[in-house]
Amino acid sequence: MKTAKPLIAGNWKMNGLRADAVALAEAVAADAAASADVCEVAVFPPFTALDAVAGALSGSPVALGGQDCHEAEAGAHTSCISAEMLADLGCRYVILGHSERRHGRRETSETVHDKARAAFRAGLTPIVCVGETRAQRIRGMTTEAIADQVFGSVPDAEGPMMFAYEPVWAIGTGKTATVEDIARIHDWLARLLHALGRDCEGSPILYGGSVKPDNAAAILAVEEVGGLLVGGASLDAEAFGAVIRAAG
Ligand code: PEP
Repeated sequence: MKTAKPLIAGNWKMNGLRADAVALAEAVAADAAASADVCEVAVFPPFTALDAVAGALSGSPVALGGQDCHEAEAGAHTSCISAEMLADLGCRYVILGHSERRHGRRETSETVHDKARAAFRAGLTPIVCVGETRAQRIRGMTTEAIADQVFGSVPDAEGPMMFAYEPVWAIGTGKTATVEDIARIHDWLARLLHALGRDCEGSPILYGGSVKPDNAAAILAVEEVGGLLVGGASLDAEAFGAVIRAAG
């Protein structure tokens, strides 16, 4: 079932020095304020820009999130960022298990599971990404691949949690799943999460994979789509503003 307002989330990945990030955040804040009645908006800047973006978003309806976190609270983990550090910077969300970490950095579902527990511990809402590779899709293994990721990544612990269905072959490629495929997978995933006690109403499922201004409204119209996780188009203030307006 749809949540009252979809979440439009912008994953900035490893892009933007602080001045660029602040300028983009200010533009997003204006668009989000104008659409505050119809959608929630969140941005996920690189760690180095979180503090500056938090300042730029102060007083705006845009939520802040981290792109990843470490499972431990603190300690000898050179280069890592804890969930508590993200919370301290004003983050509400953290993206976990993005395909650029699962496939690009060989991150396992077990690690995603431990990071989700860390997010709960710090009071953050994890957005756990799942999705099949092109090879899995061709072999007809889409639901098996996603089920493996869900079973491996979802902790028993209670806490607000969100999911993003992001077919790996659609990320950054300009290829988007059809609305029929999105509807089928989201419906199936919502029922799987319900069976796991992660009801979709409290855990809306976002879609991600080459979302652009011209396909956002059609994807958001799919019943089980609770919002969008946007990569490339979220780096362009005009394009992301158009995606936000598509929620209306
Ligand atoms: C993403 O990185 O989560 C993503 C969906 O990227 P893009 O929108 O560029 O495909």
